[in-house]
Amino acid sequence: MRKKIIIGNWKMNLSLADAQDLVFKLKNQVKTKSAVEVAICPPYVYLLTLVNILKGSNIHICAQNMFHKENGAYTGEISPEMLTDLHVNMVIVGHSERRQYFHETDSDINLKIKSALKFSFTPIFCVGEDLKVRESGKAEEWVKRQILAGLKDLSKIDLEKIIVAYEPIWAIGTGKICSGEDANKIVKMIRETIKELSTNIVSEKVRILYGGSIKSDNFSEHIKYPDIDGGLVGGASLKFEEFAKIIDLADSVHALHQSHP
Ligand code: PEP
Repeated sequence: MRKKIIIGNWKMNLSLADAQDLVFKLKNQVKTKSAVEVAICPPYVYLLTLVNILKGSNIHICAQNMFHKENGAYTGEISPEMLTDLHVNMVIVGHSERRQYFHETDSDINLKIKSALKFSFTPIFCVGEDLKVRESGKAEEWVKRQILAGLKDLSKIDLEKIIVAYEPIWAIGTGKICSGEDANKIVKMIRETIKELSTNIVSEKVRILYGGSIKSDNFSEHIKYPDIDGGLVGGASLKFEEFAKIIDLADSVHALHQSHP
């Protein structure tokens, strides 16, 4: 059975003092949770400090981005080797904000996924349609194309290691929520597409998350679907109480799915 995972994407937020405070509280709260995995994605400049605080805890530290090259003259970029040195083992790839503001293309994203896997990272591969695509009724087609492009030429063994996050752009940071039913439809289509690229066994191992304006009072609508394996949480991951409640929800639903598979 796939383990639920809740990932907090801090984006470009929090002072160092606030980040430390939040991580100390989380470390304490998460130590009693065994049914759910938790990861946080702080800005690069806080990684080393927070990795040290979280040593020995069960919270993963995830980078928000990385470049696909190992080193060289790429001013401003961070390589997988550098992140490995910090004991970071997860990375978000293809977030819609990277696609939109930094013009990352599907082929850039494919290169980053391959590079992340080469360095034994778990890539959190983000896909999702904008409002125009959703309203034209082509969301499934759009997301399928992103999946095929991002996962191009990956072996079955590598496909197994990926986490996919379905994040409709129109729901990110807007307070608009994609219904559990609609999110589940796309998540099922993603799993089916991964099956077409590999096997049923592989596609059943891949964790697929929902992301987009998740809050503690709306997430039960998504996490109740057995195919939705967790959440990628932006704004709500910056507030300890909110994030803790979201983790609790995933923890209790996981236990429920285990007793009634
Ligand atoms: C995100 O940034 O991935 C995200 C889902 O943000 P929010 O939860 O704030 O919509």
